[in-house]
Amino acid sequence: MAEPSKIFLSPPHMSGEEQKYINEAFETNWIAPLGPNVDAFEKELAEYAGVRDAAAVSSGTAAIHLALRLLDVKQGDVVFCSALTFVASANPILYQGAEPVFIDSEPDSWNMSPDALGRAMIRAVNAGKRPKAVIIVNLYGQSAKMNELLAICNQYNVPVIEDAAESLGAEYQGKKSGTLGKFGVFSFNGNKIITTSGGGMLVSNDEEALQKARFLATQARDPAAHYQHSLAGNNYRMSNILAGVGRAQLKVLDERVRARQEVFKRYKEALGNIEGITFMPELPNTMHNRWLTTLTINTKILGLTPIDIINFLADKNIEARPVWKPLHLQPLFKGAEYFPHTSTRSVSGELFHSGICLPSGSNLSEEQQARVIEGVISVSQSQLKFTSRKG
Ligand SMILES: *Cc1c(COP(=O)(O)O)cnc(C)c1O
Repeated sequence: MAEPSKIFLSPPHMSGEEQKYINEAFETNWIAPLGPNVDAFEKELAEYAGVRDAAAVSSGTAAIHLALRLLDVKQGDVVFCSALTFVASANPILYQGAEPVFIDSEPDSWNMSPDALGRAMIRAVNAGKRPKAVIIVNLYGQSAKMNELLAICNQYNVPVIEDAAESLGAEYQGKKSGTLGKFGVFSFNGNKIITTSGGGMLVSNDEEALQKARFLATQARDPAAHYQHSLAGNNYRMSNILAGVGRAQLKVLDERVRARQEVFKRYKEALGNIEGITFMPELPNTMHNRWLTTLTINTKILGLTPIDIINFLADKNIEARPVWKPLHLQPLFKGAEYFPHTSTRSVSGELFHSGICLPSGSNLSEEQQARVIEGVISVSQSQLKFTSRKG
């Protein structure tokens, strides 16, 4: 029998309309960076999110970097960041020569713990090292406890950058994810809920700040015919062709969110009763976009580690992944300060050691999903669990 086709974790899902916008860009020769698709994509995304302005850039990472520059983060400054996230959330802190301090997750949302943030803030302020910014990540499409986190940041007058790279389309108490802080960041990388193959967006209600972001992102050219520069700029703008792809993708964003939520629902129905498997919770009064369906494994009950299950699925040509390795455990950030949820409990560490992300694409067919479900059920019942520990 032929090997079953590969099932990817989160592949791109084109609508078919993208080509129209690309053709238009070619026909009018708007190939160079910027152009009508960029302007329109910014306007359409700002409208969708319910925010005053949006600046289209080359990646989500670039958007975070620009936000830090706008907040004047410099060498020696301190920036707080969620510990449980993809490395791109924190790399721009290093680009600015600043010092990251990592804040643990709490168990209800898997996102930044208000308790840990509160302790970190008091400690930093007392040491005379008040952070210049706090980067709050909305992991796997779920908002953090923004009210609690914002209350702490506002109390100490520290601006918030919401890393909503994974949570485009999600909502927090009726507001779109990514619009609750001073700046919000979206990503259109190939694995995200919509994609431009690569790209990002910086959003804010501060239009002046976003004008400055556009200036910095186009090499910081002073207004003069001769190329004059007073600041070091970046080359971070989105191309007009990719913005066309983004416009077509944005039109189907709500459909993509619903499809991912359906994928989650089917997993939960099929696997939710297996003892030892727990799905990522959803905060009340929020809308989780279920970018990735994630769950935790109780190894004591199930007799399996996440890696056992991931390897078993890989043998069946199914791509599942562990939960992000927390940044305070990364060699890159060795020695960085870290504030756990409680003095005895590191939630991000627990999630890393017990978590699995299942294939969750909006174009995952029911047949493909049935293969994943069958894989998880059969490994849960297999003999593997009695032998895996012996290696
Ligand atoms: C994908 C991602 C980013 C980076 O976005 P890029 O567009 O790939 O640069 C940042 N933060 C998180 C949480 C992400 O998942």
